[in-house]
Amino acid sequence: MSSNPPRANLPELAPAVQHEVARLAASPEVRSAYNWFRTQEPQLLHWQMEMARIPAPPFGEAARAAWLAERFREVGLDDVRIDDVGNVFGTHPGFGRRYVALSAHIDTVFPANTPLNIRQQGSRIYGPGVSDNGAGVVAMLAIAHLLRSVRLRHALPFVFIGNVGEEGEGDLRGMRHIFSTPRWKDSIAYSLVLDGAGADTIVAEGLGSRRFEVIVRGPGGHSWSDFGVPNPIVILAKAIDTFAATTVPTVPKTTFNIGVIRGGTSVNSIPESASMKVDIRSTSMTEMERLEQSLRLALARAVEDETLAAEMRSLAQKRPAGVSGEVVVIGNRPAGELSSGAKILQVVRSVDAQLSNAAQVQRASTDANIPLSLGLEAIAIGGGGSGGGAHTLQEWFDSNGRELALKRILLTMLTLAGVGE
Ligand SMILES: [Zn+2]
Repeated sequence: MSSNPPRANLPELAPAVQHEVARLAASPEVRSAYNWFRTQEPQLLHWQMEMARIPAPPFGEAARAAWLAERFREVGLDDVRIDDVGNVFGTHPGFGRRYVALSAHIDTVFPANTPLNIRQQGSRIYGPGVSDNGAGVVAMLAIAHLLRSVRLRHALPFVFIGNVGEEGEGDLRGMRHIFSTPRWKDSIAYSLVLDGAGADTIVAEGLGSRRFEVIVRGPGGHSWSDFGVPNPIVILAKAIDTFAATTVPTVPKTTFNIGVIRGGTSVNSIPESASMKVDIRSTSMTEMERLEQSLRLALARAVEDETLAAEMRSLAQKRPAGVSGEVVVIGNRPAGELSSGAKILQVVRSVDAQLSNAAQVQRASTDANIPLSLGLEAIAIGGGGSGGGAHTLQEWFDSNGRELALKRILLTMLTLAGVGE
């Protein structure tokens, strides 16, 4: 996930919700859950390291999904299964028809051949993916395991989901699939997404992004004998120059980046193609669409200008002028935000007040974007402990303080589910 500064203007906490959270927190069953968490840390670190040793590159999560399905069965979840795209599900029964969903993405950013040298030093573990999303998956497993170890009353049933495709080119495909399936789209009342370490943030606004690969193709040729045919690198450079001059608002915050350019084969060849990758982000769908238009126009104009210029030259030289530009969408994450009266935000903020946990409400791009963009209640929070170096080989996770996040997740789920009689 990537995040932005906090937003202001949060509504007052509702006394009824605060009261319910305080009552739950003082109940003997929740007290024994807290004690149970205290004894589980060795098991949790063990799971976290075991999982991090199983590669899970984008579109290659099957082995890790199988591992998680085994853990779901082992801790006693019902209806454990893996869907068509590789998402892992397990349920815990309740009394209502709609679910409280607890999910964590199982994919990593690391390519399949990345060495997964996972090491432990005391409470700290090191290696790719240990925190993002080892912390999230293990917190989810801890809650699932707890439910079979300590009897906790709740009305709505729980569904636990280890989903694929959160990172980069995965483009939220796991969540997208779940929320395009009527069975889940219509039955998940609240989505609690666990992503990374920590307990100090609440992502309540989905930052949207669109990503493009822009490809320019031309006839190519020899730098000397074919001089004058359109050059895709020159066209791309002109398109970049025009597009980069597009103005963007600070509110709603909107950004763009040209992150990769490629093209050409040798210094004495006119290239046959050149390409770039562009990232556009905003909390507003309208701004994202406006920037996309600007990108398409900049490309069209650069192609047209160069085609005209090449035709002028070819009148004398009789060279082919055929040149084309193409914009391929390689990523599309919808924007969305919670309504100001959303129950899920009231609940997690009341839980934070109860636990004396200072957390900031933020906007970011997470799995929660999908339910948020559909107008459903969803937030993303951390799996506890602390971590750093996400998306690098130096990634680390420290389990100190993990209990706080487990308490926070549990209280939030129980309050959302309501009490069963
Ligand atoms: Zn993540």
